[in-house]
Amino acid sequence: MKEFKNEVYTDFKNEEKRKEMEKVLKNVEKDFGKEHDIVIGGKRIKLEEKFKSINPSKKDQVIGVFQKGDEKTGDLALNTAWEAFKTWKNVSQEKRAEYLFKIAETIRRKRLEFDSYLVFETGKNWLEADADVAEAIDFCEYYGADSLKYGKVFDMPTFDNEKDELVYIPLGAGSVIPPWNFPLAILVGMTTSSIVTGNTVVLKPASDAAYIATKFMELLEEVGLPDGVVNLVTGPGPIIGDYLVKHPKTRFISFTGSKDVGLGIVEEAGKHREGQIWIKRVVAEMGGKNAIIVEDDANINSAIEGCYASAFGFQGQKCSALSRLLLHEKIYDEFLNKFVEKTKNTKIGPTKYYENYLGPVINETAFKKVLTYIEIGKKDGKILAGGEPDENKDGYFIKPTIIELNNANSRVFREEIFGPVVAVLKYKNFEEAVKLFNDTEYGLTGSIYTKDREKINIAKKELHCGNLYINRKCTGAMVGAHPFGGFNMSGTDSKTGSPDHLLLFLQAKAIGEYLGN
Ligand code: NDP
Repeated sequence: MKEFKNEVYTDFKNEEKRKEMEKVLKNVEKDFGKEHDIVIGGKRIKLEEKFKSINPSKKDQVIGVFQKGDEKTGDLALNTAWEAFKTWKNVSQEKRAEYLFKIAETIRRKRLEFDSYLVFETGKNWLEADADVAEAIDFCEYYGADSLKYGKVFDMPTFDNEKDELVYIPLGAGSVIPPWNFPLAILVGMTTSSIVTGNTVVLKPASDAAYIATKFMELLEEVGLPDGVVNLVTGPGPIIGDYLVKHPKTRFISFTGSKDVGLGIVEEAGKHREGQIWIKRVVAEMGGKNAIIVEDDANINSAIEGCYASAFGFQGQKCSALSRLLLHEKIYDEFLNKFVEKTKNTKIGPTKYYENYLGPVINETAFKKVLTYIEIGKKDGKILAGGEPDENKDGYFIKPTIIELNNANSRVFREEIFGPVVAVLKYKNFEEAVKLFNDTEYGLTGSIYTKDREKINIAKKELHCGNLYINRKCTGAMVGAHPFGGFNMSGTDSKTGSPDHLLLFLQAKAIGEYLGN
């Protein structure tokens, strides 16, 4: 595998870069409000029913109008994907990897444009948007290079005058269903890992990020990816997403999203439907209820920085976000005083302005849901910061919120809250902290801050999560360095950005040829 290096982030501290970004932001806005098509086999399709994607920082700004995919479009997309599969599966592994390198290069060239789409359509601040775009590039480079190891015949130990081989072949046509919260990185990672291994896909993007998906589709056309390898079908998840999941022609499903939708997909995909000749393979990465433990010997200032970024980066709308903050009683007051002060000083507002750290939550449903959890938090504990929307703004802004709890029974301690809310609990000793950390149905990310080597060693063994960090934040997994994916209700532990990931989209075929005839 060629040496992989993570993409460097854009330096927005540089005034010239900032000015350039401001220009690009203005420019991309001119394209908003237009209608976009479904793309199947390179053909553009309009339907009667449409939906809109809006700017969550400015509710009256329509980012784009999209087609509501229906059953007929679902059938057409899957048939087209299977047709394209006949040739795509035979394209050499090197050539397929080349496409990914070209995709990476083209995103790199359009870096600030993509950054801007993320700022407007999903409310990411500049740094978060840029990190998302960088991760998309990383996935293309990483999967492109990693795929080369499968493009050969593996000689096996021979048996009795035979030539014994193993080859890896693709699965077929699958459905890719990403979330809106890493609207480029996850969508690109899920799509490219599927196609680089020789599969073809129907890409059903999240409705709140349909514009970004459309722009990615345009980019695939620009790099000359053959028609039908990726087919873009927009529309509501519960309708077209569900249809694709249940469809007997769907060979595999790559899903990232909430626990409830993920479990529904696992259940539906497990049913045998008429005409279906395979067991559908499901990759499902889901939610989290992530914890950070801060021990009494920790570097407090560093822990505060890490916890703040983990809890409130992208408004807490990361599957990896800190949601349960566990503080040792000896440092409890000192930590909380500083943490609360820092949180209260957060700059909130539309993310098209560089100075705003905290943007809006994604939509009205999320806004209401997060506020409902805050109300529960008010009953079950005490609000130390935030606890209300930021009413002076034109979007779905909620102040970063810290809720102090007395015990772990509250729903705010147990259920995923996809917004800027963190629950805090005091503990007496390390054993109690480990118990609280593991007291969840999820198992995605987590951190511990301590200088004690013995505790670090215990943490490595006992803290049950797919991505454990020590003396650093629990968000910001890097492709390559931090293979990403969770345990238990957090998903199937698919470890994206790792040497294991591509195998999920391949099947092994063993060939034994008798040489004695
Ligand atoms: P959802 O589960 O609501 O949606 C995810 C995708 O599924 C969207 O494309 C959605 O379409 C689609 N969908 C919705 N209902 C169905 C259905 N019945 N059948 C098929 N597809 C359906 O998640 P969000 O987009 O809100 O994303 C946030 C969630 O994702 C959080 O729980 C977060 O923790 C998790 N996540 C997990 C990650 C991980 O790696 N473990 C990474 C990132 C996020 P539509 O938008 O049209 O509803």
